[in-house]
Amino acid sequence: MHSPDDDWSTRHSVLTNARRAAALVNVLTPDPPRPDAVAEVLTAYGERAPVELSPDDVAAMRAAAVLLREVFAADHVDRAAEALNRLLLEHTGPLRLTSHGGGTPWHPHLDSDDDAPWSEWFLASSCMALTVLLWEGQRPPGALCASPRCSDVFVTRGGGPARRYCSRRCATRERVAAHRRSGVGTREVSDGRAGR
Ligand SMILES: [Zn+2]
Repeated sequence: MHSPDDDWSTRHSVLTNARRAAALVNVLTPDPPRPDAVAEVLTAYGERAPVELSPDDVAAMRAAAVLLREVFAADHVDRAAEALNRLLLEHTGPLRLTSHGGGTPWHPHLDSDDDAPWSEWFLASSCMALTVLLWEGQRPPGALCASPRCSDVFVTRGGGPARRYCSRRCATRERVAAHRRSGVGTREVSDGRAGR
């Protein structure tokens, strides 16, 4: 019982769009970003390969990523809402519905046109997904990885204690580092060298 529309809905769920936003922000954070890495994320999230991005496309997408980072950096739902409201006011169009000429189920867009530039689409689709997640969860829709060695953002989701790290890899590395630090601290104290 699998219609193409079901597949489309899964691939284009709000959560998937928010995760795509985070993945794009992360791959666009290095200056300059690698265009092939950006194209890889886009194809991984269902854009038809090959994705052709000009240097101007990538530069404009990076500017959008810098703006979106403010939403991920907000550590309180009110701050995240303020950041999103700024972007919705200054950088996205009015809400509209599109079926891409009948090729997809009807769904909302905040960009000006189905053929809008990549950067406009990226900012608008990310604002849309993060806005809905904030609405549903009444909490910041994303966060910055707490590891000092990582600058990635991630999507927060679900109940329970808030996640602090972008990935299991970062969480493990920081746990090991903290363990090592505490071991060193204990030794220094017992040696009487770190009594301050
Ligand atoms: Zn991380």
